[in-house]
Amino acid sequence: MALMGQMMSAPLLISSIIKHAARYYGSTEIVSRRTEGDLHRYTYRDCELRARKLAQALGALGVQQGERVGTLAWNGYRHLEIYYGVSGMGAVCHTVNPRLFPEQIAYIVNHAEDGYVFFDLTFLPLVEGVAPHCPNVRGWVAMTDRAHMPAESKVPLLCYEELLDAQDGNYEWPQFDENLASSLCYTSGTTGNPKGALYSHRSTVLHSYASAMPDALGCSASDVILPVVPMFHVNAWGLPYSVPLVGAKLVLPGPKLDGASLYELFEQEKVTFSAGVPTVWLGLLQHVQANQLKFSTFRRTVIGGSAAPPAMIRALEALDVEVIHAWGMTEMSPLGTASKLLAKHHDLPDAERHKIQEKQGRVIYGVDMKIVDGEGKELPWDGKAFGDLLVRGPWIIDRYFRNDVSPLVDGWFPTGDVATIDADGFMQITDRSKDVIKSGGEWISSIDIENVAAAHPAVHMAACISAYHPKWDERPLLVVVKKPGAEVSREELLQFFEGKVAKWWIPDDVAFVTEIPLTATGKMQKLRLREQFKDYKLPTA
Ligand code: ADP
Repeated sequence: MALMGQMMSAPLLISSIIKHAARYYGSTEIVSRRTEGDLHRYTYRDCELRARKLAQALGALGVQQGERVGTLAWNGYRHLEIYYGVSGMGAVCHTVNPRLFPEQIAYIVNHAEDGYVFFDLTFLPLVEGVAPHCPNVRGWVAMTDRAHMPAESKVPLLCYEELLDAQDGNYEWPQFDENLASSLCYTSGTTGNPKGALYSHRSTVLHSYASAMPDALGCSASDVILPVVPMFHVNAWGLPYSVPLVGAKLVLPGPKLDGASLYELFEQEKVTFSAGVPTVWLGLLQHVQANQLKFSTFRRTVIGGSAAPPAMIRALEALDVEVIHAWGMTEMSPLGTASKLLAKHHDLPDAERHKIQEKQGRVIYGVDMKIVDGEGKELPWDGKAFGDLLVRGPWIIDRYFRNDVSPLVDGWFPTGDVATIDADGFMQITDRSKDVIKSGGEWISSIDIENVAAAHPAVHMAACISAYHPKWDERPLLVVVKKPGAEVSREELLQFFEGKVAKWWIPDDVAFVTEIPLTATGKMQKLRLREQFKDYKLPTA
């Protein structure tokens, strides 16, 4: 006969995280740069009280459990209160990326059927444009106080602080099934319409536990953590949950993400740990290098979202900042792998150790992965064979929101990435399957080419895309933004590749541009670049 365990059964609820932080790290600070311009500070105890008031206010507005509540907001304390207040009362916190086109935002708000949308004042013009196309939204809430409410608005607005002021905070977080939906994020929809990943309380809490572990993000109560990655981009990689879970001080940078503003905040608040996409670190590095600055406390950062160029990893290392290269996606909550060394790696020569750090890394417990060939047959873990990367686990999507077609293949989620896995289980992304360059039937990794280019001292940003070639079908074209004041010729740049990649991988041409378009999440928008260069005539063609 089956013998059941005899431990308490407590559902894994998001409210338990903020309750824990308020009770055990009550006086630990949350510091936010506000859209109003100033710095705001308070504690986890204050945050939890205000999240409870928000939960009461949502009840008063008639928000039901399971109903979606949208946000268009920067990283700030009010956004954090919404994360906890909305999910905590049983509704679904739907973070919308304000950098998307207004039509996409309207599509997402309507598809999610958001009952209310909370927004930072920066986004008032956006709200005024989108609101007429979102007839089912019952109210737009400006995340500010009465004094800062816009004098005029084309849309009737509610005031966040007034909603909270009307409540006493006398509220118990409800207990319910941990499998209920907690939050919703849409993929950026680089192909087709955006698709929603609907997280549960259980998946979120498990992901927070796992991502806080030392071989993942490694968060601790002795850290001061500043997520540069936006709270509207896959829940800022889960940091708004994992930071309170460990009781670390949290610093939220608001709308100011330029190098100088970030540096000032890092120094002033004694930030030890951060996380963001590569393009953010470009700005910060440029500022620090140009002004010959040093970081006093900043020691570790997670870089993910797109491949961290080795030159960037080295540049941060030279400033005593360890880079943890990580990989994941919206459909994975998002964390899948992180590249932390094994004990046996510490004695390796620098060059070999670097090669390992440059990989996207090992899975964290909870994630299972495999690579397969075109027929779906599993490929060996030899660090050479590459194929489609598939994943499964309790914080990985089963199906998209309001879409009945399962994306899974035999219970595995196909990531759309192409990767290798080595004998120690370190995964390395070769490319996104749609970005890979197919030259005469052989594959060239656009990431490898970009990594070489990024190491050239005159290169600020480089994207490698395929250009049409009559004989090879596709050949690599390197699109480059030079550093301000730097000079480099096409020939010099191409020569720089000699001996660094196979001869036939060297791009056929270089196009210098003043800007590379970025996606709403700060990644190089290769789809747009491919369109821009679709009639490009290679000199080799
Ligand atoms: P989108 O970019 O479509 O908004 P996500 O933010 O979920 O979606 O991005 C997930 C994708 O980003 C991954 O499938 C992968 O292609 C890419 N990616 C994420 N991290 C890395 C990394 N460290 N190296 C290379 N590619 C990465």
